[in-house]
Amino acid sequence: MYNINYLKLHGDKNKMNTFIHRLRSDFNTQIKLVQLVNLIVSVAGLAYMFATASWGYGLIALVTFLIFGIIGANVGLHRYFSHRTFKVSRPVEIFLAVMGTLTTLGSIISWVAIHRYHHQHADTLEDPHSPRHIGWWKAYTYQWNRANISRKYIRDVASDPVITFLHRHFFKVVLTYVVVLAIINPWLVVFAYCIPATGCLNGVAAVTVIGHIHGYRTYETSDTARNSWIATIFSLGEGWHNNHHAHGYKWKQGEKWWEIDPPSWVIRMIKQ
Ligand SMILES: [Zn+2]
Ligand SMILES: [Zn+2]
Repeated sequence: MYNINYLKLHGDKNKMNTFIHRLRSDFNTQIKLVQLVNLIVSVAGLAYMFATASWGYGLIALVTFLIFGIIGANVGLHRYFSHRTFKVSRPVEIFLAVMGTLTTLGSIISWVAIHRYHHQHADTLEDPHSPRHIGWWKAYTYQWNRANISRKYIRDVASDPVITFLHRHFFKVVLTYVVVLAIINPWLVVFAYCIPATGCLNGVAAVTVIGHIHGYRTYETSDTARNSWIATIFSLGEGWHNNHHAHGYKWKQGEKWWEIDPPSWVIRMIKQ
């Protein structure tokens, strides 16, 4: 059993008809370590913020979390790269790719591979992170099952030079952002990187778990996906998960008037 979060792109693609998702423990451990450090620094940073009433930093953390979560994770990694629910210009696509990378949820290729595989096999034994099979704790804490994912799942993203660059230089890209923040003001590393990235980690976990166990079902899908307002709050708009599993091709996931969907507001502005 391995955690699936980071995927090393390797091998001669002409020879390989299956893309063996060899989640080498060194890369996997590295990203887990970064996420763990982010979590610890975030808790300390929030404690400092409340203790010293540093609300200016709190506002920076909130705004950056909204940008990371809504644009990087929800619009970028999920609705654009994984599901291709809309089209954008190349500059906007590159911006989404960089923002998606900075969330430190995994490279775009690894995230897309696992996410498409999840939809294909939702709540079966093949699903890497079904709370029904691995339990909510393992699903929430990213202790997901290993999966060998065919290259066909990532053919589009793996053939894009910008996305493969961001995949191969994943940590360097994140580190560059952190160094720039540190030069401007070291506290920004805490409030404009660690806290937003940890917020995204928690948001995706909330959809993975709460979006499959809490809420109502509008559609009788073959999986357990549910529409959950709790998952929606934690993930900044990605919790209408039953609607999404029923209609993965739609860029708008909220359907009823109360199903508020901030990522769709952004998509409405940037889609072509
Ligand atoms: Zn999805
Ligand atoms: Zn799901």
